[in-house]
Amino acid sequence: MTTFEYAPAPESRSVVDIASSYGLFINGEFTEAASGEALKTINPATEEQLAEVAVAGEADVENAVKAARRAYERSWGPMSGAERAKYLFRIARLLSERSREFAVLETLDNGKPIRESRDVDIPLASAYFFYYAGWADKLDYAGRGAGPRPHGVAGQVIPWNFPLLMLSWKIAPALAAGNTVVLKPAETTPLTALLFADLVQQAELPPGVVNILTGAGQTGADLIAHPDVDKVAFTGSTAVGKQIARGVAGTHKHATLELGGKAANIVFDDAPVDQTIEGIVNGIYFNQGQVCCAGSRLLVQESIAAEVVDRLKARLGALRVGDPMDKNTDVGAINSAAQLGRITELADAGDAEGALRWSAPGDLPDKGYWFPPTLFTEVSSAHRIARDEIFGPVLSVLTFRTPDEAVAKANNTPYGLSAGVWTEKGSRILSIADQLRAGVVWANTFNKFDPTSPFDGYKESGYGREGGRHGLLPYLIEGGTR
Ligand code: NAP
Ligand code: MG
Repeated sequence: MTTFEYAPAPESRSVVDIASSYGLFINGEFTEAASGEALKTINPATEEQLAEVAVAGEADVENAVKAARRAYERSWGPMSGAERAKYLFRIARLLSERSREFAVLETLDNGKPIRESRDVDIPLASAYFFYYAGWADKLDYAGRGAGPRPHGVAGQVIPWNFPLLMLSWKIAPALAAGNTVVLKPAETTPLTALLFADLVQQAELPPGVVNILTGAGQTGADLIAHPDVDKVAFTGSTAVGKQIARGVAGTHKHATLELGGKAANIVFDDAPVDQTIEGIVNGIYFNQGQVCCAGSRLLVQESIAAEVVDRLKARLGALRVGDPMDKNTDVGAINSAAQLGRITELADAGDAEGALRWSAPGDLPDKGYWFPPTLFTEVSSAHRIARDEIFGPVLSVLTFRTPDEAVAKANNTPYGLSAGVWTEKGSRILSIADQLRAGVVWANTFNKFDPTSPFDGYKESGYGREGGRHGLLPYLIEGGTR
């Protein structure tokens, strides 16, 4: 197949100022960490250091939770919903106005293509704030009875795959409901959360309503363990989620956990093939496959499996892998050396267990962390690559003969976050979706997000919804009748 050559079309780096070091954002101000400790964040596409960020310890967690408590009692809690909404609308508008700055910073810190941060992450983050701003004065209709109350202080911990977007999923509903927050971004992607702190100052939020504590896993653990945190919200791995659930058991804290996934993307023999190929690609190679709801298990009906795999390989060969700042790039860098190590290890396990590996041909950059778009055929349900979350651009292809077999294989996983169904028949979509144990089922599409739609998982994918009216509920306590 002929591929077109494109001249490079790099986005400008100069639209964002990156300081050489950052403090913690507590009570509306940037302050040094008590310990003076710092960690480095790098650009995973080049391994160049971007900045040093402070590591929050127990004393800083104490200060941030105190600030959040004060703001909850004195400013944010007593404020009317309509007033809170004004601040949230302001944040949403500022995110849109400054979207290019945020997109460039997200791509530099995370390694994702600028096309994705520009067209997906940042517009969606703004949309979540717009959406929840609209709820702030309508909480009586959220489904917790009349006069629902916030919990108080929310401690929130997020991962590195969609740094600003996950921040918006956490902060927007919490604030709309009247809580104040202390949020810890992931160690490898703290910069857009710190730029968000700058935006919070610009929006003139009362001090202490939003606090950002950078650091590693220990900072997250200290935050969640703090006795004055009322509501815990965590997105990350199932292993850490289980530790957190154990930690909050028996305390007054309410918790929501959004954890891992191993989604089935089911393709029937009557599916429109061209659209399906695009959907499979978007399902597993979007964001380098570092997506909790990625369609990482392709279940394709046996009669069309060979054709689908051939066309998929041709399509993957045309994906452009490389500089995330180039507007032509489809697949960027893996977020960290550690994550690249995990992907490599699991893919090697696929080879060892007898599956057949195919990777898109092409050179990868010398510097940085890269993994080519890859698929495995001859995969059985027992293989690790069919069971474990790889969290990388690696697709496991399995086949089925009957709809019942497709459902049985799709549900044969400890996870249950998402799934996809590709078929021309509406009745089949409804019947299969009904039988899938997955929080979100996409029909003839994949990886579509909207602030009005709830998102959550079954089984080891966690509990508590985010998005939509449902996403408000974990931040509200039942009101009495007035
Ligand atoms: P992770 O290792 O669990 O880390 C998530 C966050 O928790 C990070 O900020 C991390 O800090 C922090 N952390 C680590 N240990 C902790 C502890 N003991 N107590 C409190 N916080 C702790 O997960 P990850 O590798 O960053 O993210 C990938 C995982 O997230 C995947 O499994 C993916 O499926 C899941 N995910 C789920 C959703 C969803 O909505 N269900 C969305 C996105 C991602 P450090 O960064 O310093 O380690
Ligand atoms: Mg980084």
